[in-house]
Amino acid sequence: MRPPLSNAEEESIFQRMDDACDTCAAGLKAHILRRWEKAGAGLHQPTLALALAYGAPSAINIAAKNIRPLASRAMKFTKPKSVAKAKATKLTDNEAAAIEDALEAGIEFGLEALPANIRSRVDVEEATALARRRLSRGIFRQHLAEFDESLRGLERIVDASRDPALAVLKDPIQLSQMFGLNAQQAAIIVRETQSTIAYLRKPPIRGVERPLTKEDIETVRRVMRRRVRQAVEARAELQGQTLAQEAIATAQQALYDTAKRQGLLDADKHFKEWVTRRDEKVCPRCDAFDHKRVPVDEMFVSDTGEKAYQPGIHPRCRCRTRLVTQRTAARPRRSQNRAA
Ligand SMILES: [Zn+2]
Repeated sequence: MRPPLSNAEEESIFQRMDDACDTCAAGLKAHILRRWEKAGAGLHQPTLALALAYGAPSAINIAAKNIRPLASRAMKFTKPKSVAKAKATKLTDNEAAAIEDALEAGIEFGLEALPANIRSRVDVEEATALARRRLSRGIFRQHLAEFDESLRGLERIVDASRDPALAVLKDPIQLSQMFGLNAQQAAIIVRETQSTIAYLRKPPIRGVERPLTKEDIETVRRVMRRRVRQAVEARAELQGQTLAQEAIATAQQALYDTAKRQGLLDADKHFKEWVTRRDEKVCPRCDAFDHKRVPVDEMFVSDTGEKAYQPGIHPRCRCRTRLVTQRTAARPRRSQNRAA
């Protein structure tokens, strides 16, 4: 059990935020997997075949030319009604709905975490709209980064397929099913394929390496398909977590910004404070932010000089913020203790 953050009430809010984040992340994982599957199927097959035949990683970008995410697709998230009218796929719709759920949860818990006098007066509708706008931009950037990283993964596979031992990877259909692997994961898949093949070719006692049989090749393909699947799912889960976390942190921040615009917060008195979970799992980066206080519309600056507007600086970050009034600042601040 980790020590309470400040009081039982706040601790319970943070824990429920974690739960909401997990629920949303689990839902998003399925959508992300379907999106990648669709993207993989949309790759230009003849170009993939050429890329493999010539061992030309750069051809992957050409194969993906027509399926790159467009900025206009991000806007569909801001206008759920026009999504239904437009020829958007059901998938986009569901993903937007899942994120909308996380956003709602973030607003709900963010409200609970606010002092009662602000909670009752903050314009929730405006805060929700603000959070939705910011999220839409953030999510589009993430989609694009995810997409580009997935292409880097395929490039890695194509690059490795020049090794004659890896002829087993030279299958355009299989390659498109690998969409979603990042470069690092792809490099691991390549290494594992190489060692599986080396193992199968090893002579029983002394002697020459034996050539792979058709059955061997099928075995390698089967094993590697399973490994690719696991890696792609792991990455989708992480992306889902990141999206859900961002939705919740963005909602909380939007409430602060809206309250400030309404004049409910006093610049000299009200601050946002970074709260880590103060347990052994807190990473050094987040620990350097612990208990930092800044005006609600400013960036946090950590002990190491890193800047962040809101928590969520790495995947699976569990940090939150709280609103503090300077005169009630009774808790010891770790950063000050450390400096002392
Ligand atoms: Zn963190």
